This record gives sequence, structure tokens and C-alpha cells, in this order.
Amino acid sequence: MMHNYIAISTLNDFIFCPYSIYLHNVYMGGDEELVHAVPQTRGKVAHGTIDNKNYSSRKDEITGLPVYCGELGIVGNIDIYKTKEKLLIERKYQINEIYQGQIYQLWAEYFCMIEMGYDVKNLAFYAISTNKTFPAAVPNEENKKELQDFILKFKQFDPEQSISINTNKCTHCIYCALCDKVDIENVYA
Ligand code: SF4
Repeated sequence: MMHNYIAISTLNDFIFCPYSIYLHNVYMGGDEELVHAVPQTRGKVAHGTIDNKNYSSRKDEITGLPVYCGELGIVGNIDIYKTKEKLLIERKYQINEIYQGQIYQLWAEYFCMIEMGYDVKNLAFYAISTNKTFPAAVPNEENKKELQDFILKFKQFDPEQSISINTNKCTHCIYCALCDKVDIENVYA
């Protein structure tokens, strides 16, 4: 049943390039742990380092909780939830700019937590490298609709359809060598 659920961690990758999700499913057998494109790996490594250190064993913090939302058809893991502040945090190694895909991921985690009965009143990103917190607005109904539309687009993505190619992105994409879309584009490069 969980098979049709979308991994929250792939939402940002879908914005990076929808075709990379398709290639991942074809070449990696569709396991839910998406191999991230290079720009994403740093964040992943940052998480790993902290997780391995057992960053938090505090009672007022929940880390790495598996979450899902039946209504939206999404599944994933939260980063940190601080119970006292009712605050859900997503850590990144470095934050220069917060991307829409990262906001969608935080919203997605939020809706999972809410559906699961957690009381979340505040959202934030946290940059490990600079020790800075970036508060984010809790999604309203309009935001929820936007996220639902995005998830629908994700589910309905047809790998045959043409996509806009950004060669700068492709050179940073781990699927570049396997990607037939880029072979075509490379003729013009
Ligand atoms: S190589 Fe380019 S077009 Fe192909 S999956 Fe990667 S980012 Fe997308």
C-alpha cells in the first residue's frame, strides 16, 4: 500500500529535475531511499553526521521520527520536533537560500505530523554551518492546495514528456551519464 506513497525526501529532487526521479526508479529498482543529486548530498551528509552522534537524547526532542500522511500520500522522516516549543525543524549543513522544494518538504512533514496527532505550531530551518535558525510560516489552506497540486504533478509525471533542460543542473546530476534526455541536448552543447 505504501508503494504509491511519495517519499518526502524526493520532493526537492523532483523540482531539481523530474526525470531524475524516473531514472532513479529505473536504475536503482525504485527503493524508497532516493539517491540524491550532488547538490543534495551535502545536506544528507550533514544529517548523517549528526544522527550518528546521537545528537539528541533529550526527552523534549523527537528526532528522525518516521511519518506519513494518508491524505496527501506521502511518507518520510522528520528531522527534529521540539515538543515544548511545538517546533518542527529541518537542519541543513548550509543555507544560502531556502528553495521552494525544501519548503514543500517541511510543509509535507508538517501535514504528516498533524495527521498523526502531533501539535505543531512553529516551523524552522536550521543551518549547521552558521548555527542560524530561519523560521518558516506554518502552511495555510492555500499552501496545502499548492502542495497537493505539486504532489499530483509528481504522481502524474510522464517520463516521455519533454522537460526543460538546464545543462548546469545536468552536469551536477548523478544520472547524467545514464540520461537519454541529456544525450539529445548534448548535441547542442
Ligand atoms: S542529466 Fe539532466 S535531464 Fe537528465 S536526469 Fe539529470 S538533471 Fe535531469
